[in-house]
Amino acid sequence: MNAITAQPTHRSVIIIGGGQAGLSISWHLTQRGIDHLVFEKQRVGHAWRAQRWDTFCLVTPNWQCKLPGFPYAGNDPDGFMKKDDIVGYIEEYVASFGPPVREGVAVTRLGRRAGGGFEVDTSAGSFTADQVVVAVGGYHTPKMPRSAERLPRDLTQIHSIDYRNPEQLPPGDVLVVGTGQSGCQIAEDLHLAGRRVHVCVGSAPRVARRYRGRDVVDWLDALGHYTLPVHEHPMKEKVRGKANHYVTGRDGGRDIDLRKFALEGMQLYGRLSDVLGETITLEPNLKRNLDNADNSSNNIKDMIDRYIASAGIDAPEEGRAPPVWEPDGERETLDLRAAGITSIVWSIGFASDYRWIECPIFDGKGYPGHTRGVTEEAGLYFLGLPWLYTWGSGRFVGVGDDAAFLAERIDTLRGGATGIRVVEMALAE
Ligand SMILES: Cc1cc2nc3c(=O)[nH]c(=O)nc-3n(C[C@H](O)[C@H](O)[C@H](O)COP(=O)(O)OP(=O)(O)OC[C@H]3O[C@@H](n4cnc5c(N)ncnc54)[C@H](O)[C@@H]3O)c2cc1C
Repeated sequence: MNAITAQPTHRSVIIIGGGQAGLSISWHLTQRGIDHLVFEKQRVGHAWRAQRWDTFCLVTPNWQCKLPGFPYAGNDPDGFMKKDDIVGYIEEYVASFGPPVREGVAVTRLGRRAGGGFEVDTSAGSFTADQVVVAVGGYHTPKMPRSAERLPRDLTQIHSIDYRNPEQLPPGDVLVVGTGQSGCQIAEDLHLAGRRVHVCVGSAPRVARRYRGRDVVDWLDALGHYTLPVHEHPMKEKVRGKANHYVTGRDGGRDIDLRKFALEGMQLYGRLSDVLGETITLEPNLKRNLDNADNSSNNIKDMIDRYIASAGIDAPEEGRAPPVWEPDGERETLDLRAAGITSIVWSIGFASDYRWIECPIFDGKGYPGHTRGVTEEAGLYFLGLPWLYTWGSGRFVGVGDDAAFLAERIDTLRGGATGIRVVEMALAE
């Protein structure tokens, strides 16, 4: 019997995932004295350690790092932590309260247990729990189109999750497909390193880094944007599938304007539509996508202007600069070999994969039905998903509030909040 199976296999609560979400709920349960266990298949904070590129830094300012009981305490609240500092923040968080984490243990199946509670099968044996929090993040399976299989075999293809630095890619031009946060920042990373970069521009919006004397995040915070619940958002639940606005925290923070990169030699195209051997076909929407990204940035600025005017804030005026570059037409095809492209970085996002959860809570697309993380299966919760409840739910700034909400629900279901404890389902070892 190894060290793990020698320990009791039943817990009041099992938390699946040891990222910031799993650690946040663990902190709240610890405060409430609720026995629990966190299973993390890698190491705590794995995504920040192993799934980000070398020059990665936060897009959100450090002051938004508000893990429960452990707000950012450094001397640069308006700065943007680099990858190692983020990992350090997570490690210090763990050291601050000593959560009961089993690292290197993957949950392989979660199902209902006859008689109540849940069965949690793991790579280290089977466990049971009265309640379970699924905190496995929102980015499970890197998306690569099947058409990519038709590309020449000597072309290097990686997903953004595996991108580390320009040197990892063979000499030659690089094609970045997708312009969400990752695609734009990876294109910038390659461009700044002197690589010739080609980018298939998608429909992601952009946002300015600063406006009228403050970081736009500060303005949006003052506007209440980060605490707006999903059901009050104009797009309602559909906002969960929307691409993030692109901007960067690199070198103290700045805009990402693809038009400026185009002036410096970056090759921009519309969205990739298909692969025909060495040639890719392109949608004629480069101009529209660039214009829409600028419009989204300007709309946010308009909103800030209205707020400044209505609140009577004394903020410096700031004009709107016209676009610094316009495409001179829409290209329909690109011959990769002729363009000198030797590698592709697919930056088109992730699909979720909850096939290991055997509870009837998912919609037709495999998304779990929930209200602020509480599912219809009593005792089963989700935490850390993008827009689980607010913009910040899938980020450092909001996960703590959602964790506090779930901890209260968990305690209530146990009888903690009413003083009536649910009879512990002690399992025969
Ligand atoms: C490129 C990128 C940039 C981002 N930038 C920012 C930013 O600037 N600011 C910000 O606030 N947020 C940012 N985010 C969003 C968010 O903060 C991160 O995605 C963060 O990692 C989410 O934390 P989490 O705990 O919800 O999920 P994760 O960090 O993904 O943690 C989930 C954990 O669960 C584990 N796990 C998964 N399946 C199992 C299983 N079956 N059994 C056991 N363990 C399992 C994983 O190993 C992982 O450690 C960014 C996200 C990405 C992808």
